[in-house]
Amino acid sequence: MKKNLIKDLENLVGKDKIFSHIEDRFCYAYDATNNFYLPDAVVIPKSTEDVVKVVRYANQNKIPVVSRGLGSGYTGGSVPIKGGIVVSLEQMNKILEINKEKKYGIVESGVIASDFADEVKKEGLYYPPDPTSLEYSTLGGNVAECAGGLRGRKYGTTKNYVLGLEFVLSEGEVIKTGLLSSLDDDLYDLEGLLIASEGTLGIITKIAFRLTPLPSYSETVLAGFDRMEDAAQVVSDITKAGIVPSALEFIDGDTLDCVLEYISVDFVQKSDAVLLIEPEGEKDEVQKEMEMVRKICEKNNAKSIKSAETEDEKEKLWEVRRASSGALLRLAPTKVNEDVCVPPSQLPNLVKGLKKIGQDYRVTINTFGHAGDGNLHVNIMCDRTNSEQMERVDQAVEKLFDLTLKLGGTLSGEHGIGITKSKFLENEVGKLGIELMKKIKKAFDPQGILNPGKIFI
Ligand SMILES: Cc1cc2nc3c(=O)[nH]c(=O)nc-3n(C[C@H](O)[C@H](O)[C@H](O)COP(=O)(O)OP(=O)(O)OC[C@H]3O[C@@H](n4cnc5c(N)ncnc54)[C@H](O)[C@@H]3O)c2cc1C
Repeated sequence: MKKNLIKDLENLVGKDKIFSHIEDRFCYAYDATNNFYLPDAVVIPKSTEDVVKVVRYANQNKIPVVSRGLGSGYTGGSVPIKGGIVVSLEQMNKILEINKEKKYGIVESGVIASDFADEVKKEGLYYPPDPTSLEYSTLGGNVAECAGGLRGRKYGTTKNYVLGLEFVLSEGEVIKTGLLSSLDDDLYDLEGLLIASEGTLGIITKIAFRLTPLPSYSETVLAGFDRMEDAAQVVSDITKAGIVPSALEFIDGDTLDCVLEYISVDFVQKSDAVLLIEPEGEKDEVQKEMEMVRKICEKNNAKSIKSAETEDEKEKLWEVRRASSGALLRLAPTKVNEDVCVPPSQLPNLVKGLKKIGQDYRVTINTFGHAGDGNLHVNIMCDRTNSEQMERVDQAVEKLFDLTLKLGGTLSGEHGIGITKSKFLENEVGKLGIELMKKIKKAFDPQGILNPGKIFI
C-alpha cells in the first residue's frame, strides 16, 4: 500500500468520504461470488469531481481503482483482486430528471435500479430492464455488466435503453456521450464500448436512459411439467411460433421445491419444471398470445397451467421466480452460478447435456433463468471447503462451457466475465478478439489502473 494513501485521499475529497478501518474495508472486499480481497481504501464519492480527483491521484501513483455499485455481481467484477482503492458509487444516487414528454430519464450511476423503475412508473412510463437483482444493484453496475433480466425476451437488455453516459477516464478526463453531450451521433460509439466494460475502461458517473410507455395489460401463468425436456420444448415452440412474451422464465423442480419451502404459495403445484410466462401489451393481443401459449403448453404435456387471477397472485408467482436464487442455498453452502446462453431452439439440447454433466461429474446441478432468451442460470450446488468436490465442479463448469459453445451459445448471457470466466473467454472470441479488446483497454487506460485483472487473464 502506498505510504500516506489514506491521508492523501482525505486531503483530496474529505475525511467523511473515506473508509480506512479494516472492519469497513471488509464490507467492500467481496461480491455475490464470495471471492474476497481487501481494498487498501474505500472512497464514497458524492460527485463526479470527487471521482476525478481520486482517479487522477491513483493514475499518478499507479494505484488500482475498482468501481463498485452494490457488489451483487456474479463474476467477481467489483472485487479488488490487486488491492488499491474501491470507489463505491452508492451515494451518487440522485435521479436527476424524468422527462415525460420526451421519454427519457437521467440518473447518477449509484441509483438502485428498482428506485428508478418505481419513480418512472409514477410518471406513467416504463423502464423495462428487470434484473432479478433489481432491488440490490445499481444502474451503473447494470450498465457496466449490460444486465439482462426477466423481461429481456421482449424488451432487450440494459444496452437497449442507454441514451448517453458521463464517465471518468483513467487520467481523470470526463467524457460525455449521447444525450449528455453535444457530440454528433455518427461518431465512434464510445458509450457502446463502456456498456459491459465491467469498470475496466472508465467510471460511469451519470446515465441517460430511454423510457417507454407503460404497457396497458398483462397476464401471468405458471405452467408445470413432469419432464424438464417438455418445458424446454415449450420455449423452443413459443419462439418458433413468433410469440414474444415479455417474460418466459424457467425453474427446475428441485429449485421449485426449495422455493416452496422458503415462501408460502399454496396454489403452486410441485413439478419437475415450471415456466413463468407473461405476455404484456394491448389486451386483445395479449389474450390471443395467451391462448396460443396455452395450446403449446398442453401439446407438450403440461400437467398444470395456473393463471394469476388477482394482482396479489401475480405478485406471488413472480416471488416464486425471484426467490429461486436465494432459496437454493438450502441445498448446499456454495452455489457456483454460471449464466450460459444458447439460441432458444437449442434449450432442449442444453437441458439434456446438463443432466449428463451432472451424472459424469457427480455434481448437483439446479437451473432456472431467462429461458426465453436461451439464458439459463446453471447452479452447481457444492461446498467450497471440500477440495475434491470442487475439482469435479471445475471440470463440470469446463464441460458446460464447451457444450454451450458447441450449441452456438455464449459463456455469459448477462453476468459478464470478471475473474470467474476470464480463462475461458478466448474459447469464445479467439486470440484476435482478445488482442483487439486489449488494445481498446490500453487506449482508455494506458497504465492499466482501472479494475486490473478482470476480463483478460
Ligand atoms: C440473486 C441475484 C440475482 C441476479 N439477477 C441478475 C439478472 O437477472 N440479470 C443480470 O444481468 N444480473 C443479475 N445478477 C448479477 C448482478 O446483480 C448484476 O451484474 C448487476 O448489474 C451488478 O450491479 P451492482 O451495482 O451490484 O454492481 P457490482 O457488483 O458492484 O459491480 C459489477 C461490475 O460493474 C462495475 N461497476 C459498477 N459500477 C460501476 C460504475 N459506476 N462505473 C463503471 N463500472 C462499474 C464493477 O467494477 C464490476 O466490474 C444477479 C445477482 C444476484 C446476487
